[in-house]
Amino acid sequence: MKHLDSLQSDFAFKVVHWQRLAGRHKLAWQNTRDPYRIWVSEIMLQQTQVATVTPYYERFIKRFPDVHSLAQASLDEVLALWSGLGYYRRAKFLHACAKTIVETHEGRFPQDEKVLAELPGIGRSTAAAIAAFAFQRRAAILDGNVKRVLARVFALELDPQSSKSLRVFWDLAESLLPQDVDMPAYTQGLMDLGATCCLQRKPICTQCPLQDICQAKQAGKQEAYPLAKAKKTLPLRHWLMVWISDGERVLMVRRPGQGIWASMWSLPSIEALPDTVVKSITESNSKSLSAPFHNKELPVAMHQIWRDRYHVSINQETFSAQSAAVLHASLKPKVKLEYALNLEQSFTHFRLVAPLLRVFIEREPLSNKADRAKEPSLAYALNSAAIGQQQSLWLRMDEALELGIPRAIRKLLEDAT
Ligand code: SF4
Repeated sequence: MKHLDSLQSDFAFKVVHWQRLAGRHKLAWQNTRDPYRIWVSEIMLQQTQVATVTPYYERFIKRFPDVHSLAQASLDEVLALWSGLGYYRRAKFLHACAKTIVETHEGRFPQDEKVLAELPGIGRSTAAAIAAFAFQRRAAILDGNVKRVLARVFALELDPQSSKSLRVFWDLAESLLPQDVDMPAYTQGLMDLGATCCLQRKPICTQCPLQDICQAKQAGKQEAYPLAKAKKTLPLRHWLMVWISDGERVLMVRRPGQGIWASMWSLPSIEALPDTVVKSITESNSKSLSAPFHNKELPVAMHQIWRDRYHVSINQETFSAQSAAVLHASLKPKVKLEYALNLEQSFTHFRLVAPLLRVFIEREPLSNKADRAKEPSLAYALNSAAIGQQQSLWLRMDEALELGIPRAIRKLLEDAT
């Protein structure tokens, strides 16, 4: 970190000057000091590109123009508007945070970045961005883009995964804060530099205001910084997604309030699939299981949905026999099972691979919503009081797509129709 003292004053001046001349000024969430709008945009922009965020942001602000309207909304409505944007915990936190601001702060955003950082879903960097943009606070941001700029300008050879390195980055970001400079322009300038100039690959150094002080540029080693994260292979998890349809409607269930896709709507799934079942499905060349009852494990797997989702306890000793009996009793002659599509998605700690099992059932058409509420017992032709604890709905595809459903499930539904 050579020449830091002499670089500090230069750094902020160059960033602000460049932002005014060449930075971004027409983003949908700019040109406002409203902390609510700034907060919504900052949360949406976490791990998501501007082009993807813009239409979501506009729809969201139109429906929820202020923190009161968001606090009064149902989580379902918030998730539906978020559907497709990914990282759904953000939507849950946004909703929880709006309620906290209304209930605890009389509907007004705190101005202090430290108080902001204590609210649900607002981390240190997001709190600083809100404080700088809305209240002109002298607070340092440090997102992935800013880290990249700092690592290159100061040639920081730091392990990107260590907490010690993170402290060094924060200390540097704070030491660079200007004393008497337009904080919104400085903060926006750092964001713009990372997004438009100091790109991860092939940075456009000729347009960068920091090129004459950038140590990585001077050494011709821009892409060597920040140091690469050690690659780790994510362990695989196998689920089975199950599409149960009568040809007109599809069975949707609400996921639990914790874990992956928490509180969102999804297809029923089996989340601890026996290896042998995975093998039999994924290795099926025909992508079709035309005679599933010859495979003893498939009925067992199907029954697991019923058992796990609807909390029906099964005597382990008679599990297979019972499950086969249930399935034989519940699946009508026109039932068809086939495997055609596969969901694959990486999460933080594992990679999910989930074949889609399509189950077509024949059943009496349901005339009204009250009848539909009895589901999914009808899906299995069962009449157990224990079934139905899990929130579930039979919906037409256009109705299903209006729910708050994860992007991967939305794609699976669209591909399957
Ligand atoms: S000179 Fe190049 S590498 Fe250095 S900060 Fe600017 S864009 Fe990034």
